[in-house]
Amino acid sequence: MKKTITLDRKSLFSKRHRIVIKVGSAVLAPSEKGLDENRIGRLAAEISDLLDQGREVVLVSSGAIAAGLTKLNLTKTKGMPLSLKQAAAAIGQSGLMWMYEKTFSAHGRKVAQVLLTREDLSNRTRFLNARNTLHTLLDYGVVPIINENDTVSVDEIKFGDNDSLSGMVVHLVDADLLVILSDVDGLYTVDPKLDSSAELVSIVEKITADMDRAAGDAQTLVGTGGMRSKIMTARKVGAYGAPMVILNGKKTGMIQALFAGREVGTLFLPRPEKQDSRKHWIAYTVRASGKVVVDDGGREALVNKGKSLLPGGVVKVEGSFKVGECVTCVDRAGQAFARGLVKYSSTDLERIKGLRTTQIASILGRKDYDEVIHRDDLVIL
Ligand code: GLU
Repeated sequence: MKKTITLDRKSLFSKRHRIVIKVGSAVLAPSEKGLDENRIGRLAAEISDLLDQGREVVLVSSGAIAAGLTKLNLTKTKGMPLSLKQAAAAIGQSGLMWMYEKTFSAHGRKVAQVLLTREDLSNRTRFLNARNTLHTLLDYGVVPIINENDTVSVDEIKFGDNDSLSGMVVHLVDADLLVILSDVDGLYTVDPKLDSSAELVSIVEKITADMDRAAGDAQTLVGTGGMRSKIMTARKVGAYGAPMVILNGKKTGMIQALFAGREVGTLFLPRPEKQDSRKHWIAYTVRASGKVVVDDGGREALVNKGKSLLPGGVVKVEGSFKVGECVTCVDRAGQAFARGLVKYSSTDLERIKGLRTTQIASILGRKDYDEVIHRDDLVIL
């Protein structure tokens, strides 16, 4: 983690044309009074400025649950049944969109509501459909406003949080920048609430394993929770060649300051090479339905020799999956090292694991493929 490197920020950001902006509930609904209309109005003004400059913006907005709870005169989500949170989201989402309608139309701008679940992006056909719709909205100059479809989202199909969703949206719409508007200035060297020597990190050139580990305990890295999911999101969008910036969404004018080249927030630089879209989808978007434990020889063939996974390398099958679904490849120690789409179901794989490819037909009565995961459907993590 470096704090300063020389960088022409103005030229970096002037080249960013399609931008995903994620705004959190703590920014939009900072108190128990619910949505802060002034703040939403300022956000609409700042985004409209970007559109006036010829850029395209997709907004990922939280705030539905917070707004719904206020309407129900409830304050805390802790210990609350999932169905009540989902009901609050349903109540709050329409109020949230109403405020965006109002504030964007003051600038002559149109908005569209898009609600997604992880399932929608995990399914390649639905992913591509959502992509087409979003591209069409952008072609018409509309600002898509995306939120998780909380009403139907249960744990298994949840994005987890909107940071994670926004990272997937970068890939979905092929954006070239992600801006996360948070309630803190950015990433700190240590928790600023616990240590007065904490410094804001201006640039992160590379996300190291140390940072991942430190962020595992959000409290030790920064004053608010959620830094871990932001770092994971930065890794995800960085692999897609897009920088990510965390800005304080409670302060006015931060977006303009960023595009003017001022050193604000924390900038995560992307990886130099952009991962292919389908491989990125396999690595970061699709949900894994199971695991295959791979022996040392199989791991070596996949990681260092660019080979496909054959039945002989599989020592154990975990979970239940169908042909075409995604699995995580783990080594004997349980360490995940790859993800890929399988050519055999878990039931068939259970029967052919450890065998030579020449034995597949005699066991299954057919041999559809030599490989369990073809190289083209495999991503090394
Ligand atoms: N979808 C939730 C909401 O609109 C927010 C989830 C999050 O902020 O991560 O209230």
